[in-house]
Amino acid sequence: MVHSTSFVDRWLWRLRVLDPKSPQRVHVHILTGIVAFHLLALLSCFPWLFSWSGLAWAVGGLYLFGTLGINIGYHRLLTHRGFACPRWVEKTLAILGVCCWEGAPLGWVAVHRMHHQHSDDGSDPHSPKKSFFWSHMGWFLIWDPAIYNLSTYDRYARDLIQDRFYKWLERPHVWQKIHWAHWLAFPVLGAVVGGALTWTWLGALQLALSWLVWGVFVRTVAVWHITWSVNSVTHLWGYRNFPTRDDSRNNWLVGLITNGEGWHNNHHAQPRSASHGMRWWELDVSYLTILLLSRIGLAWDVVKPGPRPLLEQVEEPRTAA
Ligand SMILES: [Zn+2]
Ligand SMILES: [Zn+2]
Repeated sequence: MVHSTSFVDRWLWRLRVLDPKSPQRVHVHILTGIVAFHLLALLSCFPWLFSWSGLAWAVGGLYLFGTLGINIGYHRLLTHRGFACPRWVEKTLAILGVCCWEGAPLGWVAVHRMHHQHSDDGSDPHSPKKSFFWSHMGWFLIWDPAIYNLSTYDRYARDLIQDRFYKWLERPHVWQKIHWAHWLAFPVLGAVVGGALTWTWLGALQLALSWLVWGVFVRTVAVWHITWSVNSVTHLWGYRNFPTRDDSRNNWLVGLITNGEGWHNNHHAQPRSASHGMRWWELDVSYLTILLLSRIGLAWDVVKPGPRPLLEQVEEPRTAA
C-alpha cells in the first residue's frame, strides 16, 4: 500500500522531523481530526454551553467509554485475555471502545501486543526513548508501513483477524459510522431532555449543544490524553515493583486517572493478569469492575497475578562504600 505525500510531509521534511527517504508519511486525516476535536473541546469555555448534566456526561463518559471500552474491553480482554465473558458482553465492550475514536479493536490490539513484545527497543511503536511527544501522540500521527500492514496484523492479532465481527468492525466505514451515531445521540437526547424541562426551543438547543460539547468533545479529548499518558508518562516517571526488561513504571497519578492502567510496571511484569494493582495502595477500579462482572456471572477465568519476585527481592544487596 502506497501512502500519498502531503504538504505536511514536505513541511516536516524541511524541518528535518521526517526523513524524505523514509516511507513514513503524516496521517493527515488523523491529524486533522485530533486538532479539530481539541478545538471543539475548547467550546466548553463558553459558560452558555455549561450544564451540570453535561459535566456528568463528561465524567461518567470517562468510565463508560474509557474504562469499560478501552481499559477493560480493548486492553485487558481483547489484547491480553485477562478474563473471559459472554460474547455479547465482549461485543458491547468493543463497541464502547470504538466510541473513543482510537480506531477499531484489531489495529489497537496489534499495536499494543507489538509494544509488549518490543517494549522500549527499536521496534516499539511508541517508546518515549524517541521523545515524550512521540510516545504520547506523535506515533499515530505518522503512517508507518512497517506497522500498518496486513502481515503485522496477522502476526500480532490473528485471533481477531479470524473473527468475523472484528474484521467487519475494522472497516473504516463501519467503526466510523458507529462513532458518528454515538456522537449524534448526545445532542438528540440533550434536545429532548432540554425541551421537556424548559418547553422552549432555546432550552432544547442549549442542552443539546452542552451534551455534545461536554459529553463528546471534552470527554473524547480527556480519554485520549488519559490513554496516551500510559504510553508516555508511565515509561518515564514512577516507581518499579518488578525488574522488567523495559522502562515501565508505576505512576500513582496516572494509576488514579486511568482507573488502574497506570500501574504499568506491574502490567509489563505480568501482562495477562486482569489486575494491574498489586500492592494494597494501588487502586485498580478497572479490576474491581471485572470482579463485579465476575460476581454477577458476566466474567470468569479471571487471571490473577502470579507469584513473581518483587524488585527488592531480586536486587543485589547494596554494599557500604
Ligand atoms: Zn508499556
Ligand atoms: Zn498491555
